[in-house]
Amino acid sequence: MTELTKLTLAAALDGLQRKAFSSTEITQAFIDQIEASNETLNAYVVKTPEKALDMAAEADRKIAAGEGGRLEGAPIGVKDLYCTKGVRTTACSNILGEFIPTYESTVTQQLWDAGAVMLGKLNMDEFAMGSSNETSRFGPPANPWRREGSNQTLTPGGSSGGSATAVAADLCLGATASDTGGSIRQPASFTGTVGIKPTYGRASRYGMVAFASSLDQAGPIAKTVEDSAILLEAMCGHDKKDSTSLPEPVPEWRDAVHRGVQGMKIGIPKEYRVDDMPEEIEALWSQGIEWLKEQGAEIVDVSLPHTKYALPAYYIVAPAEASSNLARYDGMRYGTRVAGDNLINTYEGTRSEGFGNEVQRRLMIGTYVLSSGYYDAYYLRAQKVRKKILNDFVTVFGECDALLTPTCPSAAFAYGEKADPVQMYLNDIFTVTANLAGLPGISVPAALDKQGLPLGLQVIGKALDETSCFRVGGALEEAAGFVAKPEKWW
Ligand code: GLN
Repeated sequence: MTELTKLTLAAALDGLQRKAFSSTEITQAFIDQIEASNETLNAYVVKTPEKALDMAAEADRKIAAGEGGRLEGAPIGVKDLYCTKGVRTTACSNILGEFIPTYESTVTQQLWDAGAVMLGKLNMDEFAMGSSNETSRFGPPANPWRREGSNQTLTPGGSSGGSATAVAADLCLGATASDTGGSIRQPASFTGTVGIKPTYGRASRYGMVAFASSLDQAGPIAKTVEDSAILLEAMCGHDKKDSTSLPEPVPEWRDAVHRGVQGMKIGIPKEYRVDDMPEEIEALWSQGIEWLKEQGAEIVDVSLPHTKYALPAYYIVAPAEASSNLARYDGMRYGTRVAGDNLINTYEGTRSEGFGNEVQRRLMIGTYVLSSGYYDAYYLRAQKVRKKILNDFVTVFGECDALLTPTCPSAAFAYGEKADPVQMYLNDIFTVTANLAGLPGISVPAALDKQGLPLGLQVIGKALDETSCFRVGGALEEAAGFVAKPEKWW
């Protein structure tokens, strides 16, 4: 039954509806694959096979009765950042101990309501802080892709590394992920998968462990652009439980994927041509431009002059919000508690033992930039820069419908290769701008580099215009004809 695990979500849904196979069969096939490979790939940090088989049996009943939802019977994985009722949720942090939520996040609830089946919880960087998944309390997952002729393990990217590994290695049909500064798009680029972050507010944040509330957004990692549209439609929608959720209807994005780009204007922002960018990524970007031109799009050169300030602004705003959000982990209510002889000692003991190094670094930066003496110089300034970045986008979207850029300045790298935090942060250079401006962005696999590793192209759309991301993403996918799969070594 391993072949079932290789299906796209769209093909699997079709097979389930035609009763070519049952949800129980495809779910069992995934459970077997996860069992056989998880020790090596470390994608799942919690496996829920019994729950999955129960959900699959229920889905089979519904399909037989002709009343299934739009994801009926489809097995998926869930990033460990989403609260799942009765299933351990720790955001891969020690501070959450063995926390078992008593409620379900809105996004996952919507997926179960649509009929999806939960295979388990997926590995991630602690509290989604990182670009390589190395900060997880459970150790990093392995990228199924390796450099040609090498057996060195590479990172699947971060923070949604487990989601990307699971999708690339056929350990689920698709996965939830989350993106605060690139955590859906960068892992997608590193693993030859598709990832989309919708407009801020499209998906409810209720029940997602908070990192930086004004930047966090839910989204899927999937095998194809169409699969990502199917999942995103089920994940989005207004939710009264999240005050930042937008009261907007969810369009039929799946229909946009094959609509083509005839007559669209695609902007090429010159500031995304950065120093030291590998030639191959430059070349792929030019190739992407050609592909879109050939399909009838008009290409326009545009400028986003404040791009160079995006990364520093992000690494002030995100830690500032994190320092406030993570103040709730004090040893009183959740998980780990290291009791001291007074309250302050208990806080200090709990937080220094419970949080890993990267999280502690961010909390210190965040507390510093919010402190009274430095607030104006750092935080307030970063917020002003953020506004300028947003204004740049508003201006260029007067001239074009969407932007095309590389997703990342590199292909997947090895563990330990970026030991300096600033080097690690630089990996987010092309992705953080969409979060700062609240815009949708999709990463589509477009080619393999000289070492045989996947590279992605990114499409950034106007606010609430995921449709254009899907149109351009679909056109790139078709032109690229990217069908490569990692050679199985796990
Ligand atoms: N890599 C970025 C960071 O470390 C983005 C993380 C994310 O999007 N969750 O903050």
